[in-house]
Amino acid sequence: MKQRIIQRLLEYYLETPAFRGEMLRALSQFFNRPKLSAGDRLEIEDKDEGIFNEWLVFDFRLKNKKTLMEDFCQRNPCKLSDTELQAYYDLQENEYGLFEILEVESGKGLKVKSPKTGKEYEVKEFRGTLQAEVGGLLIARVGKVGGHFEFVGGDCYKLPVESKDFYLGKLASKRELNPKVVRDIFRKLEEIKKADFESLKGKLLDEGKCICDLCGKKGKMGALTYDKKTGEPIVICYKCDLKIKAQREGVTINEAEKRRKRMFEVSNLFRDVKIEEYLDHKNKKELDSIEEANRVLKRIIDAWNRLSIKERRDFDAMDNEELLRIYKNIPVDFSDL
Ligand SMILES: [Zn+2]
Repeated sequence: MKQRIIQRLLEYYLETPAFRGEMLRALSQFFNRPKLSAGDRLEIEDKDEGIFNEWLVFDFRLKNKKTLMEDFCQRNPCKLSDTELQAYYDLQENEYGLFEILEVESGKGLKVKSPKTGKEYEVKEFRGTLQAEVGGLLIARVGKVGGHFEFVGGDCYKLPVESKDFYLGKLASKRELNPKVVRDIFRKLEEIKKADFESLKGKLLDEGKCICDLCGKKGKMGALTYDKKTGEPIVICYKCDLKIKAQREGVTINEAEKRRKRMFEVSNLFRDVKIEEYLDHKNKKELDSIEEANRVLKRIIDAWNRLSIKERRDFDAMDNEELLRIYKNIPVDFSDL
């Protein structure tokens, strides 16, 4: 239903000769090609068409300063009936950006919250619920369709859970987020990570120590995170990290330290069990080289990261015997190592 609605609007602007110049301007803006002229070739990846169309409909501004959606509603160039046009007015109520998943009702929908605006939405969604997990992050556009909300954009990115802080920092700090901004960030990811690493030099010291960005003191390294306002990487010492954790979870610093230790024990146990499994599988007593160790560890970490946030959090409350039973059933693929 919503696909046909957006398609009709797109066809109007893409096929009306009076908008040819504006559409060329849109392409040159989106693909960062300042001097684009009709007939020039663009390097387009698979997903680009959907992302461009979404940006064109909701974010690009015509010379009259309106988005296509606004212009289409106000002029009604296709002479739609009031009921038909209402669907376009509804879609003007939309938000694009980062969303944290608060609840998942499998096969029915998600409850998401925008960290930027604080707004919560109940989104009707079928397919997306099958992979979604509470606490995970999405980049999507939530829009009104009839009396409810749906994901109405060209693409819906699910972000890797282990890089949550990175994406929260990099995306939430942007004044305006739209599909073009996000596409540009994803294309520059390696450069961004390199620049972050450069800016951390001098703050990361030998023997697992750091100069803390919060208290300014030299101490044991606690965490690496990102400033939500600027997107800059921040190093936090162990003491400050514990203080933050205690505050966030509403517990004493002692309790926070206990929980932190347990979290590491639980993941280290997984690592140790899986290394044993690998050695058994290879019929040997130890890893032969650092290279081999790295290859094996990478497979183990990948398997660990594929577990949901909730699964991993639940592990912290279990005893080791129970964990060993569960870990046995979590496969790590060592077949071609
Ligand atoms: Zn500190």
